[in-house]
Amino acid sequence: MLADQITTPNPEEHIRLQAALRESEILRELTELLASSLDLEHILQVLVKRTAEVCEVERCAVWLLEDARGALRPQTYHLSSQSLDRKTIKAADAMWYRSSLPVDSPAVQRLLQSGGMLYVEDLSAAPAMKRLAETFLVRSALLIPLIREGRPVGMLSLDDPAQTRSFSAKQTQLARAIGQQAAIAIDNARLYQQAQAERQRAERLIERVRSIYKVALAVNASEDLSTVFRIAMENLVRSLGADGGAIALIEEDELRLVSSHFGYVGPSVNGSTQLARLPNCHYVARTGQPMYVKEEEIEGEEILFYRQVGLRNTIIVPLIVSASTTNEDVINETHLNTPDRCVGLAFINYYTHTFQPGKGQIAYAQDIAAQCALAIGKFRLLAEVRQAAAKATERATTLDAIFHAMTEGIAVADMQGNVMILNNAASHFLGIPKNYKKHLNAFLRRYPTYTVEGQPISEDQFPLTRALRGERIRSERFVTRRADGEERILEINIAPMFDSQREQIGVVSAFRDISEAIRSEQRIRQALDTMLHVAEAVSGMTDVKAILHSVLERTLTTLNCLQGAVYIFNEEQQKFTPLFTIGFNEESEEHWLKDQQMWLDPEPDEYHGFYRQVIDGHATLINAEQYPYQPNPLGHVMVLAAPIKHNKRVHGLLLLDRSMPRASAAESSASPETGPQERYEFSIWDIAVLEGIAQLAGLAVDQALWQQEAFAARNSEAMLREANESKDDFMAITAHEFRTPLTIVLAQSQLIAKNLTPLQKKLSASGQEVLQKAITNLGIVGEQARHLTGVVETFLEVSQITNGQLTLNSPVDVDLAEIAQQVVNQSSATSPDHTITCEIEPCKQPYIVKGDSARLRQVIVNLVENAIKYSPFGGPVTVRMRRTLAIEEKHVIEVCVADYGIGIPAEALSHLFERFYRAPNSSSGKGKGVGLGLFLVAELLRLHGGAIHAESSGMFGEGSRFIFTLPGVESAETLD
Ligand code: ADP
Repeated sequence: MLADQITTPNPEEHIRLQAALRESEILRELTELLASSLDLEHILQVLVKRTAEVCEVERCAVWLLEDARGALRPQTYHLSSQSLDRKTIKAADAMWYRSSLPVDSPAVQRLLQSGGMLYVEDLSAAPAMKRLAETFLVRSALLIPLIREGRPVGMLSLDDPAQTRSFSAKQTQLARAIGQQAAIAIDNARLYQQAQAERQRAERLIERVRSIYKVALAVNASEDLSTVFRIAMENLVRSLGADGGAIALIEEDELRLVSSHFGYVGPSVNGSTQLARLPNCHYVARTGQPMYVKEEEIEGEEILFYRQVGLRNTIIVPLIVSASTTNEDVINETHLNTPDRCVGLAFINYYTHTFQPGKGQIAYAQDIAAQCALAIGKFRLLAEVRQAAAKATERATTLDAIFHAMTEGIAVADMQGNVMILNNAASHFLGIPKNYKKHLNAFLRRYPTYTVEGQPISEDQFPLTRALRGERIRSERFVTRRADGEERILEINIAPMFDSQREQIGVVSAFRDISEAIRSEQRIRQALDTMLHVAEAVSGMTDVKAILHSVLERTLTTLNCLQGAVYIFNEEQQKFTPLFTIGFNEESEEHWLKDQQMWLDPEPDEYHGFYRQVIDGHATLINAEQYPYQPNPLGHVMVLAAPIKHNKRVHGLLLLDRSMPRASAAESSASPETGPQERYEFSIWDIAVLEGIAQLAGLAVDQALWQQEAFAARNSEAMLREANESKDDFMAITAHEFRTPLTIVLAQSQLIAKNLTPLQKKLSASGQEVLQKAITNLGIVGEQARHLTGVVETFLEVSQITNGQLTLNSPVDVDLAEIAQQVVNQSSATSPDHTITCEIEPCKQPYIVKGDSARLRQVIVNLVENAIKYSPFGGPVTVRMRRTLAIEEKHVIEVCVADYGIGIPAEALSHLFERFYRAPNSSSGKGKGVGLGLFLVAELLRLHGGAIHAESSGMFGEGSRFIFTLPGVESAETLD
């Protein structure tokens, strides 16, 4: 046995052996320990502790190589020495952990190249290391490089703090052996750690992809926007380890919070904020680039916004809708060239200041944001599509409703003539269901068609067949039978129908039932004809009764009535009385007129409605239905009454009768004599036509009355003219025949009186008396002859005027005031019963007119004489004179002759200056006249460029005023 063979080792050898055994034991244990863990931290802890123990040093430290930095970084150390105070250790620790040794530094290079280890006897001896040595209390140190398969992994350092020492071969050997094992363990642990990190990274990526997928799923599932936002936010927050977040949409440059995710019920912002006022948000929206904004970088209004939403440090990610990827282009071509649009922002929030997002995180956030944007785009698109669809459906429904509600029948046929679509009207008319799909000819065969003139239309010539051959059919009329068998006139229009390629695929035919319209047309024509005939018939008539008879006859024929009557209206009594009737026998007429009397002249307690209506000018239907009287005596009456009226004046009534015969009234319409029900009633049409005819009759009656009046007026005027003409003749003859004899009578009477006067003395007293009487009588003869001469003179002058022969003496300046004064003086002398005065208004200019002095005197004399003559009980007569301003500032002289006599009635005033006119008052004047004086006055004034009018109240005692004007002559010096 080996044990036996070596039973007697020397004790030294034994100790060495034991030490070696222990060392190998320790080494094995350490190796096992190191290999048993992949936890780097644990490995390093074990390494430094055990190495210090095994190598019998007070301190063992480990540095690991960080490839990325190219430096050795202190990881951990073990210190067994109790000599160092804690404070120093703490201070040294703080520095040590932060220090590093660049790989390319000479010391490290030397160590790595040394192959095994490096012993530094006194670190403080090297001037460059002195500080370091003192700080960490390093003197002698053994440095062991940790190398695995030629790759440096790190370094071990062994020393006793602040002591210079050496290391035995055994220590160095042990340390190197440990270093080798440690390098493997550390490398493995680090590889494991890296693998672990990679795995985590991969897991994170998978998680992110998964969350993007989840969001995308929500988007694709067309979840509503808030759900998409919620899912997106949850994933963002979870995957990015954030403390909440929010999503806001940009609408018309305003930012509106739509979703917030804060783990608790997040704060909400009501309303929206102008994007331009939030600088960071605005920047992100404008550039389309995400940005990490720290709390301290937020300014102005943005602070408020952040607070309201609950944000601190945020990654702001734009939600970009890519114009090119949405289908919006298809819908709205204006979007074709629009760039990508930022439609909102996602905020990912972190409370910690130290957070710094990595590129991957931002890219991930962008991916989620893109999904949200997609959802928004999709949602908007969907909304638009839905809206468009709703509109289209609405339009289609409306069109469909219109299509079916149309009174025109619409039928669409394909090119073979098969019916494709029918609307309600067409289906009803043709008597075929709306989904009828057969050939139209089948229908035509069942219901043959005819032209309006009655010619049969062959299938080949039917409008639809012709339209299918390419002919355009416009407003063609034909006669056919309706589904219900009634014969109707149709008007049809047919237009070709094209598909989207402009290829004809059929025809659309629209047809209307115009039977009623044509019937109305015929009725209108008939009514117009009637009216025309009525108008023609009455146009030459002046006899009202004849006119109305003709009207009633025509109307009865037109409106298919057998009986009728005309009533005349008495305006004073406000009553209608029958003028004549047509179609009655004596007995029935009597009854009938009595019936009419019931409503035309109702008792006070009876219904006045019919009477009032006709008086108001409306055609009225008189039947029991309208008559609220119980029991109803008008039960059998069916009369249509229209007032004959024109210019608001009712002349009478036109009555048409369709009443049942009185005798059969009780038997009601059962009697065959009463004819069919429709004959019994009047239609609205009848009422309208009768109203028109009655109005026309009103016009005709009015005209006839006018004509009669005009005729009478013409007659009286002609008689007047005739009378005046004979008076003129008489006047001319009188003037001509009387003048010479009167002159002779006057001259002879004067001569005889003159010759007789000397004889007086020779006669006896009685003879003288007889002679005196004879001379006085001769004086009377002379005076009467003079008066007659005056009358004859007037006749002559009037004759001259009517013949246009009266001429004035050549005009001279005449002082009108002087003449007036003379006339007044003269008249005063001869008319002692009257106080005749002259009032001349003082004036700077004399009252001079240009004219014939004698004629002007004649005017004033005439007026004064009339004033005296027509003031039979005396009284004042005044001649007033003044100047007034007439048109264009020309001065006129105004003369007024006023009296307080009998006055002139108003209706006579305008006739006073006519020839031979004598007012009705003239009989109360003193003396007779011939009605020529004022005519002459007016004519003379007219010849002088003047005018005259009269004023009077017509009251006896208030008298009259005759006012004439003449143009005054204006002398230059008197005008100022
Ligand atoms: P006559 O010869 O009748 O007086 P005139 O032509 O002078 O004819 O007058 C016409 C009518 O005017 C008179 O008949 C009289 O009725 C009426 N008339 C004229 N002057 C006066 C007057 N001053 N007062 C009342 N009536 C007068």
